[in-house]
Amino acid sequence: MKKKLTVIVPCYNEELALPYFCNEINKVSKKLSKVILEVIFVDDGSTDKTLEVIKDMVKKDERIRFISFSRNFGKEAAMYAGLNYATGDYITIMDADLQDPPEMLIEMYDNIKNGEYDCIGTRRISRKGEPVIRSFFAKLFYKIINKMSKTEMVDGARDFRLMTRQMVNAILSLKEYNRYSKGLFSYVGFKTKWLEYKNVERVVGKSKWNFFKLFVYAIEGIVGFSTIPLILSAIIGLFFCLLSFIMIIVIIIRTLIWSDPVSGWPSLVCIILFVSGIQLFCIGIIGTYLSKIYLETKNRPIYVIKETEKD
Ligand code: UDP
Ligand code: MG
Repeated sequence: MKKKLTVIVPCYNEELALPYFCNEINKVSKKLSKVILEVIFVDDGSTDKTLEVIKDMVKKDERIRFISFSRNFGKEAAMYAGLNYATGDYITIMDADLQDPPEMLIEMYDNIKNGEYDCIGTRRISRKGEPVIRSFFAKLFYKIINKMSKTEMVDGARDFRLMTRQMVNAILSLKEYNRYSKGLFSYVGFKTKWLEYKNVERVVGKSKWNFFKLFVYAIEGIVGFSTIPLILSAIIGLFFCLLSFIMIIVIIIRTLIWSDPVSGWPSLVCIILFVSGIQLFCIGIIGTYLSKIYLETKNRPIYVIKETEKD
C-alpha cells in the first residue's frame, strides 16, 4: 500500500512566497511518485492575502488542505495545529519561504522509508546571510542551553524534519502551552539522522523574527528545559550569605584592634546597590518560572481555528 506523506506549512503573511513554494513542492511531488502527498497550510492569522492564495490553491488541488487561525498564535502553535491535523504516515514541517529546501524531502524520504530511523532532521551548517551578531548569540545560546539542559539541542537544527507517525503521536501527547519545539523533538527521543545543508536565504519577504523576539524565544527554551537558573540563584544567595558572614567577622576584629572611625559610606552604598541588584535578578528568575506555571495552569487552548477546508 502507498504511504502517505504530510507536509505542514506554517504561514504568516506569506502571500508572495506561496506561489514559489507551490511550484517547488509540485516538482518534488512528481519525484516522490511512490507516496501520496498531503499538504496542510496553517494560516497563522495573516493580515495580507495569504488565506486567499491558500484557498485558491485548495480549489485547484485536492491534496491541499488548510487551517486558518482566528489570530496570530505564532509558529509553535501553527506547527502543533498542523501535527494535530495531519493524517500521513510520515510527517514533515516546512517553512513557506523556501528556506527549508523542498527538494531535500526526496533524500529524507529515502532515508526514513526502510524503517531504520524514526526521524530525519536537517541542520544548517552555515549561517550565510545572517547578521554576525545574531550568529554569535545563536552559538552562545546553544552552548549555554546544552550545559544547562539534559535535553540535547542541536546547533543549527531546523524544524524541517521528517518524522514517523509514532514520533508525531509522542509529540502530540506533550500538551504544554509554552511550546519550544526544538526541545520537544529532542525530548521525545527516537532515532534521528541529520542531513546537513548550507543556509538558503528567504525567496521573498522579510523574516518575522527580530533580535528581541529571538531573545525571548531563547529564554523560553532555557526556562522550558532547565531548572538550573533556579539552582544558580540559590547558589548566589548562599555565596552572599557566606561573604557577609566573613565580612562581619573581619569588621568586628578590625574594630576591636583599631577602634571605629566612621568611614566607608561610599563603599556601603555600592554594596547595597550590588546586593539588591542580585536580589532582583534572582526574583526575576523565579518570576519567569512562576509566570510559566501561571500560564500552564490556565489551560488555555494553544490555538483557535476560524476556518478549515471543510467549512
Ligand atoms: N511563521 C508563522 N507564524 C509566525 C511567524 C512565522 O507561522 O508568527 C511562519 C512563517 O510564515 C514561515 C516560518 O514560520 O513559514 C518561518 O518564519 P520566518 O521565515 O519569518 O523565520 P526565520 O526563517 O527567519 O527563522
Ligand atoms: Mg525564514
